[in-house]
Amino acid sequence: MSTLNDQGLLKNSSYWQSQWHAAAKDFTVSNPATGKVIARVADASAADAEQAVAAADTAFAGWAAKPAAERSSLLMRWQQLMLQHQDDLALLLTLEQGKPLAEAKGEIVYGASYLQWFAEEARRIYGDVIPGPASDKRLLVLKQPVGVVAAITPWNFPNAMIARKAAAALAAGCTFVVKPAQQTPLSALAMAELADRAGIPAGVFNVVAGTDAAGIGQVLTTDARIAKFSFTGSTRIGKLLAQQCADSMKRLSMELGGNAPFMVFADADLDAAVDGLMASKFRNAGQTCVCTNRVLIEQTVLAAFTEKLQHAMAKLIVGDGTVAGVNIGPLISDDACNKVDELVQRAVAQGATLHCGGKRSAAASLFYLPTLLSGVSNNMAIARQEIFGPVVAVQSFSDEAEAIQLANATEFGLAAYFYSRDIGRIWRVAEGLQFGMVGVNEGIISNAAAPFGGVKQSGYGREGSKYGLDDYLDIKYLCLGGL
Ligand code: ADP
Repeated sequence: MSTLNDQGLLKNSSYWQSQWHAAAKDFTVSNPATGKVIARVADASAADAEQAVAAADTAFAGWAAKPAAERSSLLMRWQQLMLQHQDDLALLLTLEQGKPLAEAKGEIVYGASYLQWFAEEARRIYGDVIPGPASDKRLLVLKQPVGVVAAITPWNFPNAMIARKAAAALAAGCTFVVKPAQQTPLSALAMAELADRAGIPAGVFNVVAGTDAAGIGQVLTTDARIAKFSFTGSTRIGKLLAQQCADSMKRLSMELGGNAPFMVFADADLDAAVDGLMASKFRNAGQTCVCTNRVLIEQTVLAAFTEKLQHAMAKLIVGDGTVAGVNIGPLISDDACNKVDELVQRAVAQGATLHCGGKRSAAASLFYLPTLLSGVSNNMAIARQEIFGPVVAVQSFSDEAEAIQLANATEFGLAAYFYSRDIGRIWRVAEGLQFGMVGVNEGIISNAAAPFGGVKQSGYGREGSKYGLDDYLDIKYLCLGGL
């Protein structure tokens, strides 16, 4: 990794109590674009996770007691270091994850924006004074940090999924232990290095990188010293981890899978809708939980829309994310490619029409070609499961009621998008959608000021916004009597 400006950002072991810890064995991190090993990382165990939790537990009282202004300044310092090292962090991210460098840079800025947002919010953790039921009583509400927070994060946003949880936790006065995905530990470890340089005290931010996800996960969901568990990942694993947390009654935030509909009504600006769909579908090669999964087009504009879309898709450049101009990188693994391909082939076998793509760029490569399918129906697997690949699956509808019914016909409820210029329809559809986030004439909706999160089996809790701190705060009620 000689191309990093600051070689000190390439770390190869876990970090807790402000120290880097060796392990008995290590694991490899490879570049999905080339298959080459880019680093070997010490493989932390479940026992190591316990050590990290102990560090976070010990650090909690001191961190919680710090004035909010001090916590805020430390988070700001961390944010500035992330921006200062944006190029190196982005390169590490592209090398281990595959997304185009421009997107990786965007992710670093996005992750840093949560540190800034919550550094600012840290100063505004207000309580309440409630009018009491008797003249000799006063009722007060204090907000206090929940305690030690444990988190498990996925590989699709190796920096931002950690930043947005850690920023809120640390701002609230909690200490934090995270297990990153084993495919992408380098971004997490680089964040730890910068937290260290920023002066975040020992034990406040800890990273446990290892391949024993179940063993480390067991510690992070059952250790009695942990008050809260925050997860971003698949619904299947999220359910399992929520069950594990039940015994010790941990507070939970769950950002799980989605199945985003993208609806285009006949009154929409079709060119804007195509732009919005391209942004929402192809970011990170389709590997985000808010990526469009189902495209629902009003019958009367179906042909016109599909033609414009195909034209836009023809301009996509697939390749190694470090090469300038590339906008679709590799998928994360061979399994991921197989899963996407299986969904495409099953849809075609069930009657969908394949317009382009539908295969890898070459046998055994992890590059899946941008794919357009039409004639999809809502009961096909491709419409029911998260595709997590660069595949557009188009269905049609005949009226507004059918559009809403189709959009809501999923157990997921994370993001939804629709395009219309009719103000009445915009309100009706926005209110009728059973999703936590709705983009109206907009394909990119996530930012630090907005509450990110889902309903139904997409989980619960919100990240970012003025609501994001609530997930990390306990409400304490004081009844002052005898006045
Ligand atoms: P994906 O399919 O996107 O990899 P997962 O839900 O499998 O989503 O993974 C998200 C995170 O959950 C990763 O950090 C992964 O290592 C972790 N994980 C997977 N299985 C378990 C498990 N049994 N216990 C704890 N963590 C797990």
